[in-house]
Amino acid sequence: MVKYISTRGGCAPVEFDAAVLEGFAPDGGLFVPEEIPKIPAGRLAQLKGLPYPAVAREILSLFIDGTAIPPDHLKQIIDQSFSSFEHPDLMPLIKLDRDRPVYVMELFRGPTLSFKDIAMGFLVNAMDYFLQKRGQHRSIILATTGDTGPAAAWAAAGKQTIDCWPLYPAGMISEEQERQMTTLPAENIHPICVRNCRDGGDDLDAVVARLFAAPGLSGELGLSSVNSINWCRVMVQSVHYIYGYLSVCDRVGEPVEFCVPSGAFGNLFAGFLAREMGVPLRFICANNRNRTLDRTFGTGWFRKEDLIPTLSSAIDIVIPYNFWRFVYFSCGRDPEKIKQWMRDFEHTGAVRLDDRTITAVRNGFRSVSISDETTVSTIVRVWKAHQYLLDPHSAVAVAAVRELGPAADGKIKTVCLATAHPAKFPQVIRQALAPETHMPDQGIHPSIEREKTRPARSKTCDIRELESFLTKDIRNMIRRYQ
Ligand SMILES: *Cc1c(COP(=O)(O)O)cnc(C)c1O
Repeated sequence: MVKYISTRGGCAPVEFDAAVLEGFAPDGGLFVPEEIPKIPAGRLAQLKGLPYPAVAREILSLFIDGTAIPPDHLKQIIDQSFSSFEHPDLMPLIKLDRDRPVYVMELFRGPTLSFKDIAMGFLVNAMDYFLQKRGQHRSIILATTGDTGPAAAWAAAGKQTIDCWPLYPAGMISEEQERQMTTLPAENIHPICVRNCRDGGDDLDAVVARLFAAPGLSGELGLSSVNSINWCRVMVQSVHYIYGYLSVCDRVGEPVEFCVPSGAFGNLFAGFLAREMGVPLRFICANNRNRTLDRTFGTGWFRKEDLIPTLSSAIDIVIPYNFWRFVYFSCGRDPEKIKQWMRDFEHTGAVRLDDRTITAVRNGFRSVSISDETTVSTIVRVWKAHQYLLDPHSAVAVAAVRELGPAADGKIKTVCLATAHPAKFPQVIRQALAPETHMPDQGIHPSIEREKTRPARSKTCDIRELESFLTKDIRNMIRRYQ
């Protein structure tokens, strides 16, 4: 029986359904499994060649007991969650360069064209499954730097058990991302455009955390979170590392490096999880100029600085909250240390990890911070050399591999995770490819074009009044269910 506990050690173990529906652990920590399960010896090799849904079934059933979701229902939820992906492989793998073992894995073939679709579909469908069983309703609130909001809105659209409030920082996401939320014809989706967020999505995260921490409020409003605070997100994201590993390796057992454009560290924590399960992985943590993670790998100081708006806006994050899960496992799973460090970080915006933890954190990780200039020149270089169009986030990953050079032995394969479709960021692409060039077909997507012709609908408020505005709006909405 897999149970879930808090990184801060302050609540009794819960089962999978409770961890998913609550999102935040009630003591302010993050849910983690008591033990990270291992893939049974020899089993990994048997999964090679299987399609993604089959690998997902196998891996997810290590974390989800049959009593929580019976195997045939688990299969249905997985199949349903990936039915709207547009590519038969779901996550196609592309070798850019004949001479070098560098691959791009496209994680953006889902309905809203970013990697957030991969775990969000499953999470929302699993929530809906549990809520139907319980005859309950939930109010999902989530902060977004541009991609989580659309993924959640699309996954939740039309669900009877869920109303969803995506909150986004005004002017800090692309128009295309905004329209993905505001033109969705679904009455249970309530996008809110929030003005004056100095620290972008981090400011919104702080409000969401406060609402969850307010005594009694979460119960009254039936709040749930689908940010990567939610265990289910990182759990599902571990599967694409395993599937990607099996797709590129010649021999199961050889090491493979994944290069990941990172913001909140949810995707990279999922990679760590896959490694703990027994897959021989190494990682590059690719930051843009918001380099909290890169700084921590370099100096051992986990320190927040002011947010710098960049061209890769979905990773403009200065408080990568999933890093705490990684630190929890790296410090020997000591909830007292986590409690102290989280408290110090809240008060001073900086913590120095102890030497043992720093050594564990660095094990198998390289890191780098990429400037906007390098992001743009990488988009241009890869387009000219390979006629392949990268979005700015995927370009951060490809640039990171070039900047750091090949892994130690030079033979090891590297997989760059391409996390968004270029059609979500046409302004950056146009700026990169020079104004006189036509937008290449790869930079256009029919769903983005369709949204330009649809009416938009959203509410607007200031960050200072968001807490009361949102509480009122949710109260009004859920009266219908009481
Ligand atoms: C969310 C996102 C990331 C970063 O993922 P984290 O889990 O927050 O580190 C990278 N690229 C894109 C396009 C994203 O939307």
